Amino acid sequence: MRISDNPIEDSVLFTSLESIADLLRNNPILKTVKHSQPFGDLVNWGRSSALWPMTFGLACCAIEMIAAGCSRYDTDRFGIVFRPSPRQSDVMVVAGTMTKKIAPAVKKLYDQMPEPRWVIAQGGCASAGGPYNTYSVVQGTDLVVPVDVYIPGCPPRPDALLFGFMQLMEKIRKENPYILEERRIRLDNVSR
Ligand code: SF4
Repeated sequence: MRISDNPIEDSVLFTSLESIADLLRNNPILKTVKHSQPFGDLVNWGRSSALWPMTFGLACCAIEMIAAGCSRYDTDRFGIVFRPSPRQSDVMVVAGTMTKKIAPAVKKLYDQMPEPRWVIAQGGCASAGGPYNTYSVVQGTDLVVPVDVYIPGCPPRPDALLFGFMQLMEKIRKENPYILEERRIRLDNVSR
Protein backbone atom coordinates (compact mmCIF):
# COMPACT_ATOMS: atom_id res chain seq x y z
CA MET A 1 0.00 0.00 0.00
CA ARG A 2 1.41 3.42 -0.99
CA ILE A 3 0.88 6.21 1.56
CA SER A 4 2.99 9.08 0.18
CA ASP A 5 4.60 9.81 -3.21
CA ASN A 6 8.05 9.05 -1.86
CA PRO A 7 8.63 5.28 -1.70
CA ILE A 8 11.57 5.61 0.73
CA GLU A 9 9.50 7.74 3.13
CA ASP A 10 6.70 5.21 2.81
CA SER A 11 8.93 2.31 3.76
CA VAL A 12 10.61 4.06 6.67
CA LEU A 13 7.56 5.70 8.23
CA PHE A 14 4.93 3.08 7.52
CA THR A 15 7.10 0.02 7.57
CA SER A 16 5.54 -3.12 6.31
CA LEU A 17 7.41 -6.09 4.94
CA GLU A 18 5.56 -5.66 1.68
CA SER A 19 6.66 -2.03 1.18
CA ILE A 20 10.29 -2.85 2.02
CA ALA A 21 10.22 -5.73 -0.46
CA ASP A 22 8.70 -3.43 -3.13
CA LEU A 23 11.37 -0.83 -2.54
CA LEU A 24 14.19 -3.36 -2.78
CA ARG A 25 12.73 -5.13 -5.79
CA ASN A 26 12.32 -1.94 -7.81
CA ASN A 27 15.54 -0.20 -6.85
CA PRO A 28 17.82 -0.07 -9.97
CA ILE A 29 21.05 0.13 -7.91
CA LEU A 30 20.10 -2.87 -5.81
CA LYS A 31 19.17 -4.80 -8.94
CA THR A 32 22.74 -4.44 -10.22
CA VAL A 33 24.50 -5.30 -6.94
CA LYS A 34 22.06 -8.04 -5.93
CA HIS A 35 24.13 -10.94 -7.17
CA SER A 36 27.49 -9.58 -5.99
CA GLN A 37 29.31 -11.49 -3.26
CA PRO A 38 29.37 -8.62 -0.70
CA PHE A 39 25.61 -8.08 -1.02
CA GLY A 40 24.92 -11.80 -0.61
CA ASP A 41 27.20 -11.82 2.44
CA LEU A 42 25.29 -8.85 3.85
CA VAL A 43 21.93 -10.63 3.41
CA ASN A 44 23.29 -13.79 5.03
CA TRP A 45 24.85 -11.80 7.86
CA GLY A 46 21.50 -10.12 8.52
CA ARG A 47 19.66 -13.43 8.51
CA SER A 48 22.17 -15.21 10.72
CA SER A 49 22.39 -12.33 13.20
CA ALA A 50 18.67 -12.20 13.95
CA LEU A 51 17.41 -15.73 14.46
CA TRP A 52 13.93 -15.80 15.97
CA PRO A 53 13.11 -19.28 17.29
CA MET A 54 9.54 -20.27 18.02
CA THR A 55 8.56 -20.69 21.67
CA PHE A 56 7.49 -24.30 21.78
CA GLY A 57 8.74 -27.43 23.50
CA LEU A 58 7.80 -31.09 23.47
CA ALA A 59 9.45 -32.69 26.52
CA CYS A 60 12.37 -32.52 28.98
CA CYS A 61 14.78 -30.97 26.43
CA ALA A 62 12.49 -27.92 26.38
CA ILE A 63 13.59 -27.12 29.96
CA GLU A 64 17.17 -26.83 28.69
CA MET A 65 15.93 -24.62 25.85
CA ILE A 66 14.15 -22.38 28.38
CA ALA A 67 17.36 -22.21 30.44
CA ALA A 68 19.28 -21.17 27.30
CA GLY A 69 16.91 -18.22 26.92
CA CYS A 70 17.24 -17.12 30.56
CA SER A 71 19.82 -14.71 32.00
CA ARG A 72 22.64 -17.18 32.70
CA TYR A 73 23.04 -18.23 29.04
CA ASP A 74 21.09 -15.35 27.50
CA THR A 75 20.46 -16.17 23.84
CA ASP A 76 19.37 -12.54 23.26
CA ARG A 77 22.99 -11.36 23.15
CA PHE A 78 23.42 -13.32 19.89
CA GLY A 79 20.26 -11.84 18.37
CA ILE A 80 18.36 -15.05 19.17
CA VAL A 81 14.99 -13.86 20.44
CA PHE A 82 12.18 -16.33 21.10
CA ARG A 83 8.87 -15.40 19.47
CA PRO A 84 5.38 -16.49 20.50
CA SER A 85 4.05 -17.23 17.02
CA PRO A 86 5.25 -19.42 14.12
CA ARG A 87 4.37 -16.55 11.79
CA GLN A 88 7.07 -14.39 13.42
CA SER A 89 9.68 -17.16 13.70
CA ASP A 90 12.36 -18.42 11.36
CA VAL A 91 13.82 -21.21 13.53
CA MET A 92 12.03 -24.21 14.97
CA VAL A 93 13.87 -25.89 17.84
CA VAL A 94 12.38 -29.35 18.19
CA ALA A 95 13.08 -29.80 21.89
CA GLY A 96 11.93 -33.18 23.12
CA THR A 97 10.23 -36.42 22.24
CA MET A 98 8.01 -36.19 19.18
CA THR A 99 5.15 -38.65 19.43
CA LYS A 100 3.20 -39.71 16.37
CA LYS A 101 0.18 -37.97 17.86
CA ILE A 102 1.92 -34.55 18.04
CA ALA A 103 3.79 -34.89 14.72
CA PRO A 104 0.94 -33.43 12.56
CA ALA A 105 0.84 -30.37 14.86
CA VAL A 106 4.62 -29.92 14.52
CA LYS A 107 4.29 -30.11 10.72
CA LYS A 108 1.45 -27.58 10.82
CA LEU A 109 3.55 -25.14 12.88
CA TYR A 110 6.44 -25.58 10.45
CA ASP A 111 4.13 -24.85 7.53
CA GLN A 112 2.99 -21.64 9.24
CA MET A 113 6.55 -20.30 9.46
CA PRO A 114 7.60 -17.96 6.63
CA GLU A 115 10.59 -18.74 4.42
CA PRO A 116 13.53 -18.78 4.90
CA ARG A 117 13.21 -21.08 7.92
CA TRP A 118 15.48 -23.54 9.66
CA VAL A 119 15.08 -26.45 12.07
CA ILE A 120 17.27 -27.57 14.98
CA ALA A 121 16.74 -31.07 16.40
CA GLN A 122 17.71 -30.74 20.06
CA GLY A 123 18.60 -33.94 21.89
CA GLY A 124 18.52 -37.66 21.23
CA CYS A 125 14.71 -37.90 20.97
CA ALA A 126 14.38 -35.16 18.35
CA SER A 127 17.42 -36.44 16.44
CA ALA A 128 16.58 -40.15 16.28
CA GLY A 129 13.87 -41.14 18.78
CA GLY A 130 16.31 -41.26 21.74
CA PRO A 131 15.59 -43.98 24.28
CA TYR A 132 12.06 -44.46 22.94
CA ASN A 133 12.27 -47.03 20.17
CA THR A 134 8.53 -47.62 20.42
CA TYR A 135 5.43 -47.68 18.22
CA SER A 136 4.32 -44.22 19.44
CA VAL A 137 7.47 -42.12 18.95
CA VAL A 138 8.71 -40.60 15.69
CA GLN A 139 12.26 -41.90 15.15
CA GLY A 140 13.74 -38.58 14.10
CA THR A 141 12.47 -35.09 13.30
CA ASP A 142 13.65 -35.43 9.70
CA LEU A 143 10.78 -37.85 9.10
CA VAL A 144 8.40 -34.89 9.58
CA VAL A 145 10.30 -31.68 8.68
CA PRO A 146 13.77 -31.06 7.18
CA VAL A 147 16.50 -30.61 9.83
CA ASP A 148 19.50 -28.27 9.54
CA VAL A 149 21.36 -28.93 12.80
CA TYR A 150 21.36 -31.96 15.12
CA ILE A 151 22.39 -31.61 18.77
CA PRO A 152 23.26 -34.87 20.55
CA GLY A 153 22.67 -35.50 24.27
CA CYS A 154 19.97 -36.49 26.71
CA PRO A 155 19.40 -33.71 27.50
CA PRO A 156 21.95 -31.44 25.80
CA ARG A 157 22.97 -28.60 28.11
CA PRO A 158 21.92 -25.01 27.27
CA ASP A 159 25.47 -24.29 26.09
CA ALA A 160 25.15 -27.21 23.64
CA LEU A 161 22.03 -25.54 22.25
CA LEU A 162 23.97 -22.27 21.97
CA PHE A 163 26.66 -24.15 20.04
CA GLY A 164 23.90 -25.56 17.80
CA PHE A 165 22.72 -22.02 17.09
CA MET A 166 26.33 -21.02 16.27
CA GLN A 167 26.53 -23.92 13.80
CA LEU A 168 23.25 -22.82 12.21
CA MET A 169 24.59 -19.25 11.88
CA GLU A 170 27.68 -20.59 10.13
CA LYS A 171 25.50 -22.65 7.80
CA ILE A 172 23.31 -19.64 6.93
CA ARG A 173 26.40 -17.50 6.18
CA LYS A 174 27.46 -20.11 3.57
CA GLU A 175 24.02 -20.41 1.95
CA ASN A 176 23.02 -19.00 -1.41
CA PRO A 177 20.68 -16.19 -0.23
CA TYR A 178 18.61 -16.45 -3.42
CA ILE A 179 18.09 -20.21 -3.36
CA LEU A 180 14.33 -19.90 -2.72
CA GLU A 181 13.88 -17.41 -5.53
CA GLU A 182 15.89 -19.59 -7.93
CA ARG A 183 13.96 -22.70 -6.88
CA ARG A 184 10.68 -20.89 -7.56
CA ILE A 185 11.87 -19.82 -11.03
CA ARG A 186 12.93 -23.44 -11.75
CA LEU A 187 9.53 -24.76 -10.59
CA ASP A 188 7.70 -22.14 -12.70
CA ASN A 189 9.71 -23.23 -15.75
CA VAL A 190 8.91 -26.90 -15.09
CA SER A 191 5.19 -26.27 -14.67
CA ARG A 192 5.01 -24.23 -17.90
S1 SF4 B 1 16.63 -36.46 24.67
FE1 SF4 B 1 16.45 -37.05 26.84
S2 SF4 B 1 16.07 -35.11 27.90
FE2 SF4 B 1 15.63 -34.76 25.72
S3 SF4 B 1 13.45 -35.15 25.50
FE3 SF4 B 1 14.50 -37.07 25.07
S4 SF4 B 1 14.51 -38.16 27.01
FE4 SF4 B 1 14.05 -36.01 27.46
